[in-house]
Amino acid sequence: MAETVLENSAAKAGGSDDSHYVIPPPALPALPVRGSDRRFPIHRIYCVGRNYAAHAIEMGHDPDREPPFFFQKNPDTVVGDGETIPYPDKTGDVHHEVELVVALSAGGKDIPVERALSHVYGYAVGLDLTRRDLQGEAKKMGRPWEVGKAFDFSAPCSEVVPAADIGHPGRGAIWLEVGNERRQDGDLEQMIWKVPEVIATLSGLFTLAPGDLIYSGTPAGVGAVERGDRLHGAVAGVGEITIQVA
Ligand code: MN
Repeated sequence: MAETVLENSAAKAGGSDDSHYVIPPPALPALPVRGSDRRFPIHRIYCVGRNYAAHAIEMGHDPDREPPFFFQKNPDTVVGDGETIPYPDKTGDVHHEVELVVALSAGGKDIPVERALSHVYGYAVGLDLTRRDLQGEAKKMGRPWEVGKAFDFSAPCSEVVPAADIGHPGRGAIWLEVGNERRQDGDLEQMIWKVPEVIATLSGLFTLAPGDLIYSGTPAGVGAVERGDRLHGAVAGVGEITIQVA
């Protein structure tokens, strides 16, 4: 796992004493914050599925009939901007999904839509890497999605940009290039559930907490990642991320 992400270990961050534990406590995953030498600590990672109509259609679903839904990745699957990741194991069909990531500074249950944005610390650009073949098998068999979604290095994420600096982007280009080829090209305003609705709905299902990241769904154009590919994603007004696949 990338040292840039994990160097801020729980022991260092909290000043806790390792001798309280039978094994060394796991490191606390964290992301850099633009304009700060302090980092954003990651609690949980929630992801929204099929939150752009065109992507729902390309995956064979009817966005008018099936509302978006949620799944999770593990915090230690985050990889920082500029890192090189291995091609994932046990798959021959890894897909890229570029997404706006929402970073929460406050949590709670049943957060009203109109107060949702006050819980946001900032935003980032993320990649929801997917072992599409294993996900497809899981769908077909009615099995959980973790093997398709929550594998090692599956959640690359850029630095976090404070909402205090950029506001709350509701529209703007979101795109991904593989090498020099533009693969995904959408706009945040195409989201079926906007960020406040995502937070409100999610907080009815889970108690949200400071440090939660929400990958808010991907526009159309998802496709295969090959060994040696360079992935370059961006959200206008938020930032960019570049990941090299070994
Ligand atoms: Mn996704």
